[in-house]
Amino acid sequence: MHDRVQELLNSIEESRSIPLPEHVELWVDHRKKQIRSDIELLRQPRAYEHVLLEYVQRQYERRQERADPLCTCPNRCPVKEGRLPARLRTATSIDEGMRDYRQVHVGQPLVLDEGYEAYRDLVAHVVTELERVHTAMLREELPPDADTDGLDVDIPETDAEGHTSSTDASEVEA
Ligand SMILES: [Zn+2]
Repeated sequence: MHDRVQELLNSIEESRSIPLPEHVELWVDHRKKQIRSDIELLRQPRAYEHVLLEYVQRQYERRQERADPLCTCPNRCPVKEGRLPARLRTATSIDEGMRDYRQVHVGQPLVLDEGYEAYRDLVAHVVTELERVHTAMLREELPPDADTDGLDVDIPETDAEGHTSSTDASEVEA
């Protein structure tokens, strides 16, 4: 499991005892549900390898539509056949395997670079979402740009300064 993701999951678990306003609780549950499958994916022992392989396979299927080749080498090679190079799987870490492979391979395995980006983007997305959820739990309020579409809940209306209008209606009219 990615360290930052695990750390946030722990913090969220620890904050669960804080009673939240109903609309915040609903929003938090909704966001957690949205990223559940991504979290499950990152929880797998070989998440990085898994994401990388899925990316390479998907790009292999779409190779005719791609602007760039899967790999720039002139030969047949694993990524051009939708597989991860064996070196990646046998190395102590994928990163190390990637470095090794680059040194020995005669071309640039573009699809592996993209797969790495895909994994990094996935982790960044999950981290951002978990941070938003955790902050909302600590502040007991929704983030200013919270998307509440599809949530069956009354959100207290806020004025431009972010105050709840019900706290002082006369100020809004003035
Ligand atoms: Zn190649």
